[in-house]
Order: sequence, then structure tokens, then C-alpha cells
Amino acid sequence: MPFSTLGLSPHIQRSLRKSGYTLPTPVQEKVIPLVLSHHDVMARAQTGSGKSASFVLPILELWSGRVGEGKAKIKALVLTPTRELTLQVAEAFETFGEFLPRKPKVVSIIGGESIGDQLYAIQQGCDILVATSGRLLDVVKKKQMNLSHLEFFVLDEADKMLDLGFSEELELILQELPAQRQNLLFSATYPPKMVAIASKITQNPVEVTFESEEPTVESIVQRVIEVNNENRGPLLRHLLNTEKWEQVLVFMANKRAADNIAAKFKKYGFSAESFHGDLLQEERNYTLKQFKTKKIRILFATDIAARGLDINDITCVVNFDLPRSPADYIHRIGRTGRAGKSGVAVSFISHEEKDHFALIEKRSKIKLDREQIEGFELTGTAPVKERGPEPVKGKGKSKKDKLREQAAQNNGKRV
Ligand code: AMP
Repeated sequence: MPFSTLGLSPHIQRSLRKSGYTLPTPVQEKVIPLVLSHHDVMARAQTGSGKSASFVLPILELWSGRVGEGKAKIKALVLTPTRELTLQVAEAFETFGEFLPRKPKVVSIIGGESIGDQLYAIQQGCDILVATSGRLLDVVKKKQMNLSHLEFFVLDEADKMLDLGFSEELELILQELPAQRQNLLFSATYPPKMVAIASKITQNPVEVTFESEEPTVESIVQRVIEVNNENRGPLLRHLLNTEKWEQVLVFMANKRAADNIAAKFKKYGFSAESFHGDLLQEERNYTLKQFKTKKIRILFATDIAARGLDINDITCVVNFDLPRSPADYIHRIGRTGRAGKSGVAVSFISHEEKDHFALIEKRSKIKLDREQIEGFELTGTAPVKERGPEPVKGKGKSKKDKLREQAAQNNGKRV
């Protein structure tokens, strides 16, 4: 089904052609007509599915049809969990709004950049606001923004927002919005917390789900390499020299590890950088741009990069450190093999990680062969777990006992 049958204007179709979008993705095919016919929508969709365009295109279409004359008023608000996703969504509005009779004024509101500049941009006229919740609340508190004309509210990656503990901020923002509006909610998973929030936000939403929840994963070759922890760095260098990987995203357990290894790889002559939440926003934007334009080959990142990053050309994702949860595994490897391209995802495991990886496989319903690479073979045996004596039922303190003890200790202290 081509884009031309979805009810989008020739102006928007022109921008689609310019961006090389020939056919809509399944999410777009379902969501665009629903939004155009003014429904609230709740869609189970993840990054890589084309979900951004599925709300950006019809919002632009409806907005453009009734924009009218005079100063811009905020008609659409999109909330996202990360700064990167905010910037990507704002860019999508600009890209697809390029040929409209009146181009939309799009403002992004994110932390790490000057709030004064952002307020100024809003006051100069803003049609579409894309924001992270914390900074948006700071702006709302300044009482210099009028949201009373709002017609569209989008919550993108709702599950991730709630995971990150943004539910209170979200509630406060909802209080600022006019009751009459069209709501669109996107989430990769539907945990109970998300469903509860969804029922507050949307009114009789049309629910959109897809038979395959992980549409991107099939195009990814997943490899598991057994290697001792101290040999992971040398092995990665060996693979970078021998495999034909162009752009490589390497996941590290924490920010320090990402910084350290990036510095080491630079010393070895690789074009590498670290990417994590402690960097200034400008540094993050700059590094990302360098990576997208292939000036940097290797990005050592923490999980902040696992969601939302819109980079289509990552040839390989490496789990240098394993992710904590099976869901994170899928999100991480989903950074490669995007937009119809194929990709490789490599996980390094040592004795200590074997059980954890087996659990990831079980939960993700996959079973992968273990490889060893010549010169980097896994040696030694799994460390024996130190076990204390088995607890004897009835001998230890019960939860109630502990609470009583605590209460006795606090007695008179008024904690
Ligand atoms: P998203 O899930 O919105 O993050 O989109 C994933 C990637 O797919 C982005 O780089 C989009 O530019 C790209 N994309 C989305 N829809 C299409 C489409 N219909 N045709 C080609 N590329 C697309």
C-alpha cells in the first residue's frame, strides 16, 4: 500500500520522496489513517518500527489543514523520555513539514541547554513542541507558555518514561493541558503502570498491535563469543581489524568503563568516542553527529544509547558488558539491522556471565551457538559460588521481627 493511499497531501508526499520513504511501515499503515480520522491511538511499537513518522505525518497533515493566519500557537506537544529522541522527533517534524504551504515552527525543550533560549524560541512563535518532561515542567513553572490551544498530545516510548520514574512529572504536565485534545500513545511494552497512565490520558483509544512485536530482530545475526573478561579489549580490537564492520556501537556497563575504553582505543589508533549521560548535551549532539556522518567508527555507550537513537547504518552492536535484562538485550541489538538493512550483534561472555546469558536467551526465546576465537579462547573454570549455610526455617528473624526491632530502635527518636 503506497503512501499516496493514506490520505496525506502532495506536500507531505513530496517530503517523503525526498527522504527516500517509498512504502509505509506496518505501524504507519495502521496509525496514520486513524490519526487522520481524529481517533485517540494507543500503539505497541518500538524504535525502528517507523513509529515517529506514524504520528509526525498525520499531525502535520491535520495541523496544516487548519493552521490559519496570525501568530503561531502551540498545537501539538510530544513528550519523549530522552534528549536524543526529542531532537530526532523535532527534526522529523521539520523534515516532513518542509514543503507545507506554511512551514511549522518546531521547538525542542530539553535539559542541558539554555532555558532562556528555549523560552525565547517559544515566545517567537511555536506550533509544535517536542520535549522531555523535566525541562518542560521548568518551562511551565515560568508561566510564559500558553498550552490552551493544544490539539495533539503524544507520549512517545511511554514505558520507558515510566521506567525512568517520570510518572509524577507526567501527571503535573497533564494538569496543564486542555481536556479536549487528540492523544497518541506509543509504547514497546504494556506494563500495568503504563496501562494505568494510558487510561488517564486517552479517551476510547484504538489499540494497535502487531503480530510480530520485534520486527527488526530477524534481520540481525546474533553471535555469542566466549572470552575471558580481561581479553575482551584485545578480542574487540582483533574483530575490528578482521571483520568488515563499519559503524560499531559497543555497550558498556557504566560511564567510567565507556570513557576508559574509548581513551584506550583512541591510543590504539581507532576512531572512537564514549557516549553517556554525564556528557554535556552539546558533546552528546556533537559525538552523535560525528558517528552518524561516519567520522567516528566506534561508539562506546551506556544503555542511554539503546533506545531512541535514530542511526540506520550501525553494522554491528557489541555487548562488551551484558545488559541486565532480556528487554535491554533486544533494545540494544535493535540498534543494528534497521530500516531493512542487515546487522550483527555480538555478545561477549565469560564463565560468570554464562547463567545470565542463558536467562536472556530463555526469556527472548532464542538459542545461540557459543563461539571461541583462535588466540582468545576462554580458559579457566567458573568460580565456585560461595554459599553460606542454608537458612533454617523458623530459626532466622522473620520480617515482622525485624520490623519490631526497628520500631523499638526508633522509639522516641521520631524518624
Ligand atoms: P523510528 O521507529 O521512528 O525511530 O524509525 C526508524 C528508522 O526508520 C528511522 O531512521 C526512519 O527514518 C526510518 N523510516 C521510518 N519509516 C520509514 C519508511 N516508511 N521508509 C523508509 N525508512 C523509514
